[in-house]
Amino acid sequence: MVQRGYVKCPSCGKLYQLKVQLDRNIKIFEWPISFECVDCGDNLTYTYSPRGLSPKEFKFVPSPQDPPITTVAYSSTLPITGDVYMKDLDYAQSMIFSSQFLNLSFRSPFSVEEIHKYDLFITRMQDGMLPYRGVLKALLPILKKGKVDAFSKKMATLFNEKKYKPLGSAQDMYDSYFELLKGVYLHIAPNRYLEECHTSFVKPLEDLINNSTVDEVRAIKAKLDASGLISVWYKEESLPYLAEAINNIQKIVPSMIYACAGIKDVEGKDDLKIVTIGCDDATDLYKNGYEVLAHGLKILVGLNNLRENGDIDVFSNPGLGDVDTITKFARKAAGKMIEHLEGNIPFMNYLDGSLNNKIRNAASHSGGIYYNVQTQHIECYYDATDDSKVYETTLMSVCRLCHVLLLHLLEVTLLARKIVEKAK
Ligand SMILES: [Zn+2]
Repeated sequence: MVQRGYVKCPSCGKLYQLKVQLDRNIKIFEWPISFECVDCGDNLTYTYSPRGLSPKEFKFVPSPQDPPITTVAYSSTLPITGDVYMKDLDYAQSMIFSSQFLNLSFRSPFSVEEIHKYDLFITRMQDGMLPYRGVLKALLPILKKGKVDAFSKKMATLFNEKKYKPLGSAQDMYDSYFELLKGVYLHIAPNRYLEECHTSFVKPLEDLINNSTVDEVRAIKAKLDASGLISVWYKEESLPYLAEAINNIQKIVPSMIYACAGIKDVEGKDDLKIVTIGCDDATDLYKNGYEVLAHGLKILVGLNNLRENGDIDVFSNPGLGDVDTITKFARKAAGKMIEHLEGNIPFMNYLDGSLNNKIRNAASHSGGIYYNVQTQHIECYYDATDDSKVYETTLMSVCRLCHVLLLHLLEVTLLARKIVEKAK
């Protein structure tokens, strides 16, 4: 079912028709709506919950005499096809019932079967993770303070448990927090991703730590810690970023269909739109996550060196001449790290653009991002000294990269903690 509603841009007064897809997900949760005004560029943000639109919709009764009205179709979990995004529709066109579900199966790279698989993935996330998406953020300050009893109580409150079982020690508290993190990972990683990326890349690195002796893991940790303690990395950088990003995870949900279907190349695939997040928000999420992942990259690369070559300091491909140890690698700037790894195809395939230097550079300097609201195309001027260097992408593509980035960050954080615990 589709519900029509009207909103007015608070800054320039332009009227929009919202066509909200009322699926079962939208009825049990609060979802974000976000798009930029085509006329004045203002960020328009709303939420849709079981109580309807908030702030309240604008009272408007359409009639056949009205001029065409700019229409934005909305679904909390599905991408939007171009024919119903920012299109001026007349009265008759506005009244046509159109389901995003059907629309997608006609005008997208996804088969009906894949869309159904995605629906199962969303249902699982809706039941097991979305209601608790704020838990990591709520618990983090208490975790940092090391207050075990307060942590236990807070956890019971957050999960609606009447009685709480006090955790015995700071160790138990950290264990619980990382269990929650693992739970989040398993809910935002579609089966296809787990089968393809986790099994072929992450699982062997986990096995490597599990199958090494305590002394061997201590040696690994010492090498990784030489350029900055990995425990400090996850406590100070990774956990705060993840807590915040997971708290706002609904904003990028519609892009998760790509990972479900195993599609990596978003651009050119019928250009699907996303109306749960604006461009600034998405590029910020990406840019900040990029920094965190870049600082933890040595963990992945070090373990991968060990797996591929039996030595944490030996890289499989020649790369940069002056990088011959993991410590020297870790001290390079992010862009240089990627340059060094470029010849390692399996590694780059796994990374899958989660460290795209061009988007990050453009997002890091003012005027670096040019966004077209109507097409959702993004021009990234990644070199502040040369305007002719442009990288083109789309909002949906950046959101897909944010999803991949989050999956990778969760993987590296869980690996880092495994090393730290075993080396104790
Ligand atoms: Zn406006």
